[in-house]
Amino acid sequence: MTRPFVLDPLFQSTKAVPGVGPRLTKLFENVAGGRVVDLFWHLPSGIIDRRYSPKIAEAQSGQVATLTVTVDEHAPPRRPSLPYKVRCHDETGVVDLIFFNVKSDYLAQQLPPGEERIVSGKLEVYSGTLQMPHPDVIAPLHEREKVATVEPVYPLTAGLSNKVALKIIRAALTKVPMLEEWHDAALLRQQKWPRWHEALKTAHHPQSEADLSPDHPARQRLAYDELLSNQLTIALVRQQQRSNKGQSLVGDEALYQKALTALPFELTSSQKRAIEEIRHDMRQPERMLRLLQGDVGSGKTAVAFMAMIHAIGSGGQAVMMAPTEILVRQHEINIGAYAARLGLNVVTLSGRDKGKSREKLLEMMANGEAHIVIGTHALFQEDVAFKDLALVVIDEQHRFGVHQRLQLSAKGRLCDVLVMTATPIPRTLTLTVYGDMDVSRLNEKPAGRLPIDTRLISNERVEEVMEALHRKIDAHARIYWVCPLVEESEKLDLAAAEERHLLMQQRFGPRVGLLHGRMKAQLKDDVMAAFSRGEIDILVSTTVVEVGMDVPEATVMVIEHAERFGLAQLHQLRGRIGRGKEKSVCILLYNPQINDIARKRLTTIRDTEDGFIIAEEDLKLRGAGEMLGTRQSGFPEFRLANIEFHSALIKMAFDDARLILEKDPHLLSPRGTALRTLLYLFERDLAIKYLRSG
Ligand code: ADP
Ligand code: MG
Repeated sequence: MTRPFVLDPLFQSTKAVPGVGPRLTKLFENVAGGRVVDLFWHLPSGIIDRRYSPKIAEAQSGQVATLTVTVDEHAPPRRPSLPYKVRCHDETGVVDLIFFNVKSDYLAQQLPPGEERIVSGKLEVYSGTLQMPHPDVIAPLHEREKVATVEPVYPLTAGLSNKVALKIIRAALTKVPMLEEWHDAALLRQQKWPRWHEALKTAHHPQSEADLSPDHPARQRLAYDELLSNQLTIALVRQQQRSNKGQSLVGDEALYQKALTALPFELTSSQKRAIEEIRHDMRQPERMLRLLQGDVGSGKTAVAFMAMIHAIGSGGQAVMMAPTEILVRQHEINIGAYAARLGLNVVTLSGRDKGKSREKLLEMMANGEAHIVIGTHALFQEDVAFKDLALVVIDEQHRFGVHQRLQLSAKGRLCDVLVMTATPIPRTLTLTVYGDMDVSRLNEKPAGRLPIDTRLISNERVEEVMEALHRKIDAHARIYWVCPLVEESEKLDLAAAEERHLLMQQRFGPRVGLLHGRMKAQLKDDVMAAFSRGEIDILVSTTVVEVGMDVPEATVMVIEHAERFGLAQLHQLRGRIGRGKEKSVCILLYNPQINDIARKRLTTIRDTEDGFIIAEEDLKLRGAGEMLGTRQSGFPEFRLANIEFHSALIKMAFDDARLILEKDPHLLSPRGTALRTLLYLFERDLAIKYLRSG
């Protein structure tokens, strides 16, 4: 199966469009992309209305107008800093066309005295005279109809004018092919959506502001095309995964019961429920794909451990992937302790394992000696192989990309996958990444947790805060001191942390540790372990403590310049305390000269510990697009669809895709053929690969 010929012109370089040379190719690459189809997807973001065509005497200053004038005389500037003026008139009055830095022979050729011309641009009044500085358009009379229209305004980049962008995109649009319709006729009628080529042309010819809205039928249709191609891809991948059957993992009840007693606590009822849901999935012959969502501190690790026990009880191995080295060590300590009581082997693999020791680890994984493997990205490496990988657990999944997740689950042909996250992800977003992923939620914290006392304190009172720490240390408290982000520079972060560390050591003596991302792995472990054992009272750190660290004895956290952190990040950070039996306090030091949004963030954090409320507030303050932070979030980028505006369409596309594949699982019907074209149009390579092999 190859791309339908009719799409070939769309995937040519923009060089193929008349008028596009090397310079414009570069510019379009920056702003839209390198191929013709990228120009199609580059939709206007505004309009200029040139239909206003008054006589000069009635013309309103400040308006864009299209005038019909007779050229009178040219008045070149006396000094280069002055403008070049061309006086024109109609039967009602005069207007001056004003130019800076324009060649006079060019103007003489464009505006010969005595001739009539159409000029269009913004009008001004300057010392009593009507002027049009730098007309956007100068054209012969017969082009009047063409000029006096509504002109789209495109997102631009330095060096690319709207005039040029418009001309080139218009030229590209002449290549829009007529494609067979891939949507259901009834749907088009019901939604009042145009055909694809019409939708594209309409979207590029807005006649009013309303035509720019994401709710406009043409834009909706284009967005839906993109969303359907996304949902079809996910559904095809799922269909494929189901067809090569998973394993039915029966587990081992005796081992399971023993594991329960190996845990140092009683599971909460939501942990128990989540474990049952997971074990139920694992017993099925289909592969599991389940999301475990639970706020920081809700105890996801224990759930993962019990799922691993189920896999091991069925004769398989389990692997857990974590985003940072520190987190791997953390899991190694906890899971390692539980597993040791059962006589199970836990090994870890990270970037620092090299040479002989790495070989030994790989051998243990390959021959099945390692029951549980915990690691970082290092697990993706080619030569990492397992004897019988039955379960993959991915911790803090929002830190990994879609591609990475697929890579890891490919290591065990039939393995079940459990992804864990503390970030409450709206369903519409999970739909665009996983489709109908099953979700288990941990909606309670382990019993006995005390609420955290969170206080906002001005930076100016840092001295008092330090003083208070003395009392805390006397009472054997363990303290996190988190240093701020400095202009997103790791180097500067580090300098700030090092400086603070020095200051604290001068004041509190040697029992102050330092932890940052640039430290050697071994040193990091040592510091963490010392803090965990209570040999260090104060741990000064950058945000490396953000994710997953678990020292239940730590009861105090001070965050410097809290106003520089995002809501989700503050919540994650604070989640490091309030884990033990003692009451915890979190002090947010902030710069009182902050704006309202920053203040709202801080008061939200002070007033609630509920991750869902915090996520909702975050969404309001930042907008959905940014909610998951960076590109790392792994959510696909859409060119035409907008997650905020088109959430109803996402749900529709999800249902639509399932229905389509139910009737025509390999897209072989006439409509199926049209849908294949859609997949090619949006370059859904993954889907195409599965169709080919299917
Ligand atoms: P997260 O969901 O943030 O990954 P963890 O799995 O790190 O949370 O658990 C947070 C802390 O709560 C750990 O110290 C863990 O030992 C403890 N914990 C987990 N489950 C329970 C429970 N049912 N009862 C008491 N403590 C628990
Ligand atoms: Mg965790």
